[in-house]
Amino acid sequence: MANYTESQIRQIVANVIKEVGADAKKADGYTSTSYKGRKLIGIYSDMNEAIEAADRGYRAVRAMTVEQREKIITEIRRLTREEAQIMAEIGVAETGMGRVDHKRLKHILVADKTPGTEDITSVAKTGDNGLTLIEMAPFGVVGAITPSTNPSETVICNSMGMIAAGNGVVFNPHPNAICTSNYAVDLVNRACAAMGGPEVLVCSMDKPTLESAAIMQSHPKVRLLVCTGGPGVVKAVLSSGKKAIGAGAGNPPVIVDDTADIKKAGRDIIDGCTFDNNLPCIAEKEVFAFRNIADQLIAEMKKNGAYLITKAQADQLLPIVLNEKTNKAGKTVKVVSRDCVGRDADVLLAKIGIKVGKEIRCIICETDFNHDFVQHELMMPILPIVRVDNIEQAIDLAVKAEHGNRHTAHMHSKNIDHLSAFARAVETTIFVKNAPSYAGIGFGGEGHTTFTIAGPTGEGITSAKSFTRQRRCVMADSFRII
Ligand code: NAD
Repeated sequence: MANYTESQIRQIVANVIKEVGADAKKADGYTSTSYKGRKLIGIYSDMNEAIEAADRGYRAVRAMTVEQREKIITEIRRLTREEAQIMAEIGVAETGMGRVDHKRLKHILVADKTPGTEDITSVAKTGDNGLTLIEMAPFGVVGAITPSTNPSETVICNSMGMIAAGNGVVFNPHPNAICTSNYAVDLVNRACAAMGGPEVLVCSMDKPTLESAAIMQSHPKVRLLVCTGGPGVVKAVLSSGKKAIGAGAGNPPVIVDDTADIKKAGRDIIDGCTFDNNLPCIAEKEVFAFRNIADQLIAEMKKNGAYLITKAQADQLLPIVLNEKTNKAGKTVKVVSRDCVGRDADVLLAKIGIKVGKEIRCIICETDFNHDFVQHELMMPILPIVRVDNIEQAIDLAVKAEHGNRHTAHMHSKNIDHLSAFARAVETTIFVKNAPSYAGIGFGGEGHTTFTIAGPTGEGITSAKSFTRQRRCVMADSFRII
């Protein structure tokens, strides 16, 4: 029998687990190309073929009226509402992350609050020299990279905006969420065909890889790249030489001062932090609480399903959720364990021998500012709380913990000077006052929704108009009628 090294054995075990996982998916009735025996539409094995199909889709949409496009979007909304539960279930089963009930709500939010063609508006300028018309045109084929954390939500939300703007779309979804993402691609194509559009309008890969992403990024027919994911992938698309929209990582801090409604703050923070087990990039990741209200805040959090662990227990949990790895430069770095991301709080607590029921939805602990729980974007229901002496210290530490992502920040306060000072200092795309984080994407807050929050490239809460390019048409010396 051959002698294997430890790393070879690990690889073999990983491959076996992967194979078993693939079979389990087949048994559940879904794969990256089919659902309960039905072939998914728009899924390709070759990225070049997928791009050609998306290009044909784009040309078909170009020939449509805006009214027809809007009909397709209305049908996407209807199917998304109808099949929200299915996508939520596949999403949790495939990735092992998040919660079915919350994922269902996220799909309904996408269906209800993603803008359609009404988001695209034209501008007319008239003067002594006539009329100039500015219209927002499609790019053509958009190449979109999507995350594992909100897979089908992002595919559907991106598709609605991109189609409303008149584009075709090719996706290179996260490999760990490929079945869920491709289910959503198929849903969009079904809606399109049902409303008299082309059979394939949006496309995806059966096995997306970094190589297929590279082909997408360099293909001449892909005119716009839209990337939703962590810092690595956002950097990759921004270095592509193409117009790119980058929606990157966050690490949203929350400040609670001593003017806040502490009862409400405790409830709102736990509600926001535990939504889909902290997978949304906007979710509360660390709290800076005024020293004089910290005990009361912790007590309110505990009343709302939080479990307070000791410093020793936090130290025990740390190496389980953050693993040490050597990066390409030979440096030791801490990387979030994929086995812990998006898991239920009771599952995480069980890893350190604490047994609780499902009523516990969040793990809280008191830490200092330098603790890894504060510094890393964990994406799981673990919420560190740092006591601060005053607003200056709170803002200073919260801005540092946000790491310049300029993504999202939250505050609970009734002091308008405090609220304004933090909002100004942190410079985030989203700033939520006195509400759970999800109010920032239109869930219990005003405004449209998106699952692609483009901080680095500045489009912000993306919508159809983010996926357009400006064109100007000039009629010199005529058509001014006044
Ligand atoms: P991830 O960064 O692991 O993967 C995102 C996608 O990028 C996947 O499709 C992956 O296959 C691909 N990818 C990774 N490296 C690549 C490269 N070099 N070239 C091409 N493609 C590459 O993300 P994830 O774990 O699924 O999502 C979590 C991260 O995404 C978090 O950091 C979260 O904050 C962020 N996120 C941001 C937003 C936003 O709107 N700003 C939304 C969701 C998630």
